[in-house]
Amino acid sequence: MAQVFNWQLGREMEYPYEAHRPKRQFAAVFNLNRCIACQTCTFACKSTWTFSPGQEAMWWNNVETKPFGGYPQHWDVKILRLLAEQPGWDISQIEENSPYGIYLGKTIFEMAKETISDNAKRALGYLPEDKEWRFPNIYEDTSTVSEHTSESQNFEQGTQLPEHSPFFFYLPRICNHCTYPACLAACPRKAIYKRAEDGIVLLDQTSCRGYRKCVEQCPYKKSMFNPVTRISEKCIGCYPRVEEGTIPRCMAACIGKIRLMGWVDDPQSPIHYLVRKEKVALPLYPQLGLEPNIYYIPPRWVPRGFLSQMFGSGVEDAIKKYSKPSAELLAVLQLFGVTQNILYSYDFGDDEVVGFDEKKKEIIRVPLEEKVLVRPEKHLNTT
Ligand code: SF4
Ligand code: SF4
Ligand code: SF4
Repeated sequence: MAQVFNWQLGREMEYPYEAHRPKRQFAAVFNLNRCIACQTCTFACKSTWTFSPGQEAMWWNNVETKPFGGYPQHWDVKILRLLAEQPGWDISQIEENSPYGIYLGKTIFEMAKETISDNAKRALGYLPEDKEWRFPNIYEDTSTVSEHTSESQNFEQGTQLPEHSPFFFYLPRICNHCTYPACLAACPRKAIYKRAEDGIVLLDQTSCRGYRKCVEQCPYKKSMFNPVTRISEKCIGCYPRVEEGTIPRCMAACIGKIRLMGWVDDPQSPIHYLVRKEKVALPLYPQLGLEPNIYYIPPRWVPRGFLSQMFGSGVEDAIKKYSKPSAELLAVLQLFGVTQNILYSYDFGDDEVVGFDEKKKEIIRVPLEEKVLVRPEKHLNTT
């Protein structure tokens, strides 16, 4: 195993291959405060990429209801159980290269090395049974209210921020195009690779022999097996669109305007601002050690203990900043869902925010406050 640096853990960790950071890294921020689980993203992906025989139960993009839902069922509970209880982050050492502190626990690569005698198994993982893939959003809209909780108790605790006692929220998920992908580490055929130009992780179907090691060892379960072709498949980051400067289908179609795509390591990018500078968007289960590149603005009504397990030690700070946004954060939040083009940089003033493409050409201009137009009484029913 090589020693590689994982900034989400604030430390070096073991990984089967040397680090090769791409020229720029494909990334996105999903704002969980705004997702309405309409599944438009899910169907945008399905109608573009996964409508063939063998792909019926395959959802490269899915939106699940937390805390009980999951696709495949219980994927996160199962991997967290395998990982066992871990000490978490030492937040006394927060610096630029360790924005959440130093992770003191073991990753799925380190645990595999320590606990599994089979050398070929590079990461902790399990293969879901076929029945676990049946529902893309099982337990839809199911909150933590149970028959064991009295109604009065729920009403009392449930209506007040900062935390709702009965809670649920929607978690849209695609492949994280991880910096240290477990799918890539697991593949004995070296059929999975990470593109040097944009960090998108692809699976070469001509090399794949369907051993399903990637399905077993991707903790997010975003590599999937096609029972008709008998080879594995995964989200391709809509690379043909990205190559021509447009955002992926699932992001372009998002009704709630909760998604913004860009480059996490480019200091000019709004994604870099949200993730590395303002730290309002956090990685999903960073403790697993893959340095995932889809980031989430946590839902502000959800109990912090639950969120911290899911997004790490930056939750409290992220919610505080999102609840009282700075002028710059407010401006960047207006850029979600306003253009089909990839935004490379932005500028903002008192009234509007402007987004630019790679060549610094203006592609979008958005007012910071929407104008209110009041119709005169004599034209109430006309435009
Ligand atoms: S389209 Fe957007 S709002 Fe609708 S479910 Fe998908 S992420 Fe959520
Ligand atoms: S989320 Fe899974 S499938 Fe996607 S790059 Fe990471 S390990 Fe591979
Ligand atoms: S990025 Fe493209 S391939 Fe991946 S989930 Fe979204 S629409 Fe599907």
